[in-house]
Amino acid sequence: MHSSDLRALDSAHHLHPFTDFKALGEEGSRIVTHAEGVYIHDSEGHRILDGMAGLWCVNLGYGRAELVEAATAQLHELPYYNNFFKTTHPPAVKLAEKLCQLAPAHINHVFFTGSGSEANDTVLRMVRRYWALKGKPDKQWIISRENAYHGSTVAGMSLGGMAPMHAQGGPLVPAISHVRQPYWFGEGRDQSPEAFGRTCAEAIEARILELGEDNVAAFIAEPVQGAGGAIMPPASYWPAVKEVLAKYDILLVVDEVICGFGRLGEWFGSQHYDLEPDLMPIAKGLSSGYLPIGGVLVGDRVAETLIEEGGEFFHGFTYSGHPVCAAVALKNLEIMQAEGVVERVRDDLGPYLAERWMSLAEHPLVGEVRSLGLMGALELVADKTSRARFDKRLAAGNLCRDICFASGLVMRSVGDTMIIAPPLTITHHEIDELVSLARRALDETAARLAHIVQE
Ligand code: PMP
Repeated sequence: MHSSDLRALDSAHHLHPFTDFKALGEEGSRIVTHAEGVYIHDSEGHRILDGMAGLWCVNLGYGRAELVEAATAQLHELPYYNNFFKTTHPPAVKLAEKLCQLAPAHINHVFFTGSGSEANDTVLRMVRRYWALKGKPDKQWIISRENAYHGSTVAGMSLGGMAPMHAQGGPLVPAISHVRQPYWFGEGRDQSPEAFGRTCAEAIEARILELGEDNVAAFIAEPVQGAGGAIMPPASYWPAVKEVLAKYDILLVVDEVICGFGRLGEWFGSQHYDLEPDLMPIAKGLSSGYLPIGGVLVGDRVAETLIEEGGEFFHGFTYSGHPVCAAVALKNLEIMQAEGVVERVRDDLGPYLAERWMSLAEHPLVGEVRSLGLMGALELVADKTSRARFDKRLAAGNLCRDICFASGLVMRSVGDTMIIAPPLTITHHEIDELVSLARRALDETAARLAHIVQE
């Protein structure tokens, strides 16, 4: 089928996620046809460096034959069976064991889901159930953060702090409260980063006191906010948050959907920040995105209560621990271990990206550059000295994103923050290419913006 026909059918029948349906219908989609390594290819013959690893998930890169073979073998052996009604199957058991080996020592159980959103729905029910079993049924409030992303199901988006999502399709799940995010460049520049980190932790304490400590079940956060804009908190933030949560006996849920599986140079982002989460939702990099699978890693404190005191937990999905997805995830983790992918991100690729990425700090359009492991961000600014932002109506970030795409690089924009999270298998040479494509796109964005402003 010709790409123009495919595009017409796409416009006629396909409602895309996070998309203005009408605008896309008029413009037409880019059709991605195949991929290898860190590159995707489209139907017009372009080869594009995927600086976002799909949606932060293709950690091992595209075209890994071992993952295809694991899926094929499992499809022949047992394409589907569930884990309900006292049954299990080898891939789910082996994956559970592997995950618990990789997770911090106090985590020894996993509940499987089909996605990150379902993992966060599971979290919400688990933490409230935990406190009910502990004889504290009023501990129901969950504190999250503004601009957090925890998924698109009703619970996921209620836990998330994205105002445009909250504005559609409510009402939200009750008893979820959002506090300010530790986004120093965007919201904290009247203080030092260290002081601002503490201010944000104090905001959590203030909210706990407002809601009443006996009513607060958990605090949920990503180690580094991904979809919010690759926001690495100031160094003072997590130690102060840990203290606050311990003081009021509040569970810590660390959403590892993006940061898990090597993105920050550790198996889990929690390990980078020395956190001991009670629950860790996971997905994406778990299978390098080859098949959909997620889960919740459950720490001993919660698991023991649910097991010993809980009776039946009325919760589960048809695809919880799907055998083919589990087999692929297991193979994915085995390859990551065998190839030392996580250590390479920590010791080699992360530092290399940081050095190359920092060279963009000189660019007149760039107000801040940051990176951790293989996640990076650039803040676009209208004035380099004052670091003032562009007028929102200019949509500078989207302009830069479109220029990047047209010139062979996927870089995402969140407002005027440009972000990258390439596959963890990227080479030095490909990092050089990524940075030089980004620099050229910044040059063109600057030229186009100057032109628009002049008009
Ligand atoms: N949590 C975080 C931190 C995420 O980034 C995402 C997806 N971007 C989700 C949860 C939801 O995962 P999914 O899209 O698999 O439902």
